[in-house]
Amino acid sequence: MAVIYLDHAATTPLDPRVREAMLPWLGERFGNPSSRHPFGVAAAEALDQARAELARAFAVRTSEVVFTSGATEANNLAVLGQARAARRFGNRVLIGATEHPSVREPAALLAREGFVVETLALDSDGVLDLAELARRLGPDVVLVAQMLVSNEFGTLHPLRELARTLRTRAPHAKLHVDAVQAVGKVDCALAELGCDSLALSAHKLHGPQGIGALIVVGKELEPVQVGGGQERGRRSGTENVAGAVGLAAAVRLAEAERERTLAATRAAREAFLARLPELPGARVLAPKKRFVDAILALVVPGAPAEVVMHHLERRGVYVSAGAACQSKKDAQSPSLAAIGLAPDEARHVLRISFARTTKRADAEFAAQALVEVLRELAAVSA
Ligand code: PMP
Repeated sequence: MAVIYLDHAATTPLDPRVREAMLPWLGERFGNPSSRHPFGVAAAEALDQARAELARAFAVRTSEVVFTSGATEANNLAVLGQARAARRFGNRVLIGATEHPSVREPAALLAREGFVVETLALDSDGVLDLAELARRLGPDVVLVAQMLVSNEFGTLHPLRELARTLRTRAPHAKLHVDAVQAVGKVDCALAELGCDSLALSAHKLHGPQGIGALIVVGKELEPVQVGGGQERGRRSGTENVAGAVGLAAAVRLAEAERERTLAATRAAREAFLARLPELPGARVLAPKKRFVDAILALVVPGAPAEVVMHHLERRGVYVSAGAACQSKKDAQSPSLAAIGLAPDEARHVLRISFARTTKRADAEFAAQALVEVLRELAAVSA
């Protein structure tokens, strides 16, 4: 049976070109970049090259790239590190309504340390409400964290407009952007977004799991992980050289193949939307105007999304019932509540996510499978 994987928002298959770039660093080239002998020097050079590649992609200096173990760590470092370093200016932290737990949880830690953490509102389209944001900003706000693309709905938030308002109304605030689902789909140059820091993760870009980066301008960042002082003291621990090489290759390819990604994901989304009239009661969740094509969240009434997901599996089609990081928890995703979904409706959210490797024919097959599964399930319950 053919396997059609449509859960790219959870993780993506490794691009063979990325694997190729990494292989020497999983084999004969194994130095510690901090060692002074030729093995170490070679590793340090590979790390420098990877850093330069990322600096180019995000239009920053090489000193502004911090390798981390992924976006969870990058988000933790950005949220905790920047808020703690700015304590003298104020104690308010604002976070987006649909942030990933790797932003929400460090913000909750900050609340326990005495910061006042507030959640930003969404407008009726499920997009960050800029007017409400403007009302909340003030000189005592030290950090705003807002994702660029939602991992649950594909919503594209207006970061540039956010940045503009923030600079005039909250002069001490740092702006952190979780760009995990955006890199390779929208322009993520830091100046373009107007942010101070940005988190990314290789495994969402056909790179390896367990490596990511925090791009951070400015020096006001309290480290979270301390030790040997690597990454200019901002993230101690021997660097993952093979991972960094893989991340750089993945970002380079994501940028070079952005048009391919956009075309492939648009075609795939269209294949699903064309069949929507055959899915009784189904609707696209959240974004009406601003979204990326790669992530499609559907409310499918009739059967719980988990049941639909397993029926699709039997036909070789792999999707997700909500976001992977939420699916092991019983609690409803706060993001679903934020966009106004009742808990019983939230159980019916199916997330289908595409990538540059998705073929139109595969999306058509998967859409057909979904039509059939929902028909079958409706027949059983009738
Ligand atoms: N932010 C978003 C928006 C994500 O989708 C994810 C991955 N689910 C993360 C952060 C965490 O990334 P990582 O898996 O690299 O820790």
